[in-house]
Amino acid sequence: MTHLIRELQKREEKLFHCVHCGFCLPACPTYTRLGDEADSPRGRLHFMRAIVEGRLEPDSPAVTRHLDRCLGCRACESVCPSGVEYGQLLEGAREVVARAGGASFLTRLLPAVMGRPVLLRPAMLLARIVRGTGILDRAVRRLSGEGWSGQVRLGLGMMAATSPPRLLSRSMSPNELLGPEEKMDAEMPGETMGHGTRAAVFKGCVQEGLLGRVNHATARVLNANGFKVVDVPGQGCCGAVHAHTGGLKGARELARRNIRAFERAGAGVVAVNAAGCGATMKEYPHLLGDDPEYGTRARDLAARVRDISEILGTADVRVGGRLPMRVTYDAPCHLLHAQRISAQPLAMLESVPGLELVPLRGHEECCGGAGVYGITHPELGGRIGKDKVRAIVSTGAQAVATGNPGCMMQIGAGLRMAGVAVDVVHPVELLDESYRRGGLYR
Ligand code: SF4
Ligand code: SF4
Repeated sequence: MTHLIRELQKREEKLFHCVHCGFCLPACPTYTRLGDEADSPRGRLHFMRAIVEGRLEPDSPAVTRHLDRCLGCRACESVCPSGVEYGQLLEGAREVVARAGGASFLTRLLPAVMGRPVLLRPAMLLARIVRGTGILDRAVRRLSGEGWSGQVRLGLGMMAATSPPRLLSRSMSPNELLGPEEKMDAEMPGETMGHGTRAAVFKGCVQEGLLGRVNHATARVLNANGFKVVDVPGQGCCGAVHAHTGGLKGARELARRNIRAFERAGAGVVAVNAAGCGATMKEYPHLLGDDPEYGTRARDLAARVRDISEILGTADVRVGGRLPMRVTYDAPCHLLHAQRISAQPLAMLESVPGLELVPLRGHEECCGGAGVYGITHPELGGRIGKDKVRAIVSTGAQAVATGNPGCMMQIGAGLRMAGVAVDVVHPVELLDESYRRGGLYR
């Protein structure tokens, strides 16, 4: 424990960057809902400093309550004029709190399952089977939104939200339309952006287990844009949930496994379609900075990681067929605030002929997903989630696009619970559908 507090002390310089200006307060979803300074970024930094200076115990009720209530959305980082690296400080503080026994059972359960394929795969298989029966949607309609029933309803709604979108074609199989290399080359119309670059798709754990269709769409669209998509055996969970819940040791083990796997694949680009995973992988050098064996290798992998919108949200992306849909876009926090990527997903959507992109009020604010925040904090998570659903409904969009599985599940569950028939899709799925309609896969 003492050595963890020493670790936090090493980061104290970053705490001192905070000049208490309060610019971050209006950007913080928990502060704007609760109006309590202790639930603001400035207040939480105050608690972290109190731990470092020995004025508060890491497992004291005030510390655990207010740090636990943080969504980890990092909206405060985007607006902080002093450059306080809040996300990294929060990870360190949560590790100290977790080791002191201050983490809840649910907070510990999620990373314990996600990092272990032997547990995760059967759980995902069962979820897909149950999802296919339609039971989940029926349960969401019948369960009440109060107490434990409300939390169960949200969990089931999140699983149901991973069902294929109603407005798009039935999801295609993994290798369908990914023909042999020579066939792909023959179909390329002159110069394409990829120029045959070897690209690996980071599959993730929940993404691959419940939203595998997004990974397949990613591979097809990359392929259509001249990348040679290579398989990466041995890759796995990025470690984001572990890092965000105080399990930095587990996150480092998963990072090392991914580094070894992607080194073997020798891909020039690692395409990531889950904002939370991309942010974590780009921060592997921070996670493994003190590791003599993996520090440099972490930097090498991080330099090759690109969100899929960074690759495809450019002027030379291929144009597909018409997709006459009214779509709105919600920015995942770990894309907008952690990776500072804002224009590229919109450019990707604007490249789709016929697609009408309508702005979303509060698109920069967290949807309340943040792992299982809605389940661990039903009241506050529920309020934040309902505000997002209201904003989406007011756009009149047929679909909302967002680039992170947690956001897709949280927003999809919220829409289902509100009885609203709006599809939730990943932006790359819309490009994929447009390519299919335009005959680019023939
Ligand atoms: S904006 Fe930055 S410097 Fe100002 S109070 Fe918030 S964290 Fe501190
Ligand atoms: S990460 Fe989000 S919820 Fe946490 S303090 Fe910053 S703005 Fe508030």
